[in-house]
Amino acid sequence: DILRATPESESELAFEGALRPQSLDEFVGQQKVRRQLQLLLEAATLQNRAPDHILLAGPPGLGKTTLAMIVAHEGQRPLRMTSGPAIQHAGDLAAVLSSLVPGEVLFIDEIHRMARSAEEMLYLAMEDYRVDIMVGKGAGATSIPLELAPFTLVGATTRSGLLPNPLRDRFGFTAHLEFYEPAELHLVLERAAVLIRLDIDTDALREISGRSRGTPRIANRLLRRVRDFALVHGGRADTTAVRAALDLYDVDEQGLDRLDRAVLQAIVERFDGGPVGLSTLAVSVGEEAETIEAVVEPFLVRTGLIARTPRGRVATAEAWRHLGRQPRSAPAD
Ligand code: ADP
Repeated sequence: DILRATPESESELAFEGALRPQSLDEFVGQQKVRRQLQLLLEAATLQNRAPDHILLAGPPGLGKTTLAMIVAHEGQRPLRMTSGPAIQHAGDLAAVLSSLVPGEVLFIDEIHRMARSAEEMLYLAMEDYRVDIMVGKGAGATSIPLELAPFTLVGATTRSGLLPNPLRDRFGFTAHLEFYEPAELHLVLERAAVLIRLDIDTDALREISGRSRGTPRIANRLLRRVRDFALVHGGRADTTAVRAALDLYDVDEQGLDRLDRAVLQAIVERFDGGPVGLSTLAVSVGEEAETIEAVVEPFLVRTGLIARTPRGRVATAEAWRHLGRQPRSAPAD
């Protein structure tokens, strides 16, 4: 699916890698976060120490991995990348931590999915640059303290609410990344078009920006599809090409994809506008609740198509209209 948030293939990963900004100056938008990070990094440099641990929270595709790379790059520090699902046991984490070199940046993507036992090990590591390794079993078991090199942890999560408080509290700084405005996505696209040497007009870029779900990853991905379309049809990358390409991939005028529309349709048609609970909704569209909550919902809430209430999700009048229906019973309005 073109709008699914994580890159699926090798070529997709290579494409993303080529478009990644290398410095905070090149990173488009998120101005507040950029300035906060800048200050944190400069202070660390002046004091000649590893920067504070950083938590990056927000939906997929908004630049969390990119920022982690920038933190390493700006401070000319080595970077180690891993992810929560790859850390199944405390031992997995111990192996990573004990091999870090001084000043290294450790990026843990999807940190909310790390094993519980590893989480506890991480508390001590973040606070004291130390871990306790358990040796032996039963009555004879002892723990051996192991000193670690000073490091900076950059954690990324789509669900900051899922992180236990003791972990969240150990980050010196938490950045909440917001969806991008169309004007910001326009800048992301202009930069990408230059990098992939695509001659595309401003109107066409504007059309893509408006349909990119506020997400740079999606903007870049749509640009690539438009390039394909222009190439195959031997035409220019203009508005007509954009519309045709995006229609082909089921992206509508507001940037909603199939799953977004399926969720809206379920609320409106099956549950008469809601309220409907998250898990019921997830089952009715055949998707995981986590995906609905972390990917679909934040976007639909932000565009004003659904609202969250204590009793569940409701479709707004705007959602009924988006589906071409009269808003008969839209309790959110
Ligand atoms: P996340 O880790 O949040 O899922 P990534 O950092 O992998 O997102 O970003 C996805 C893609 O979007 C990358 O190719 C990156 O180049 C691009 N991108 C993300 N944020 C920005 C930005 N602020 N400016 C320019 N490109 C960006």
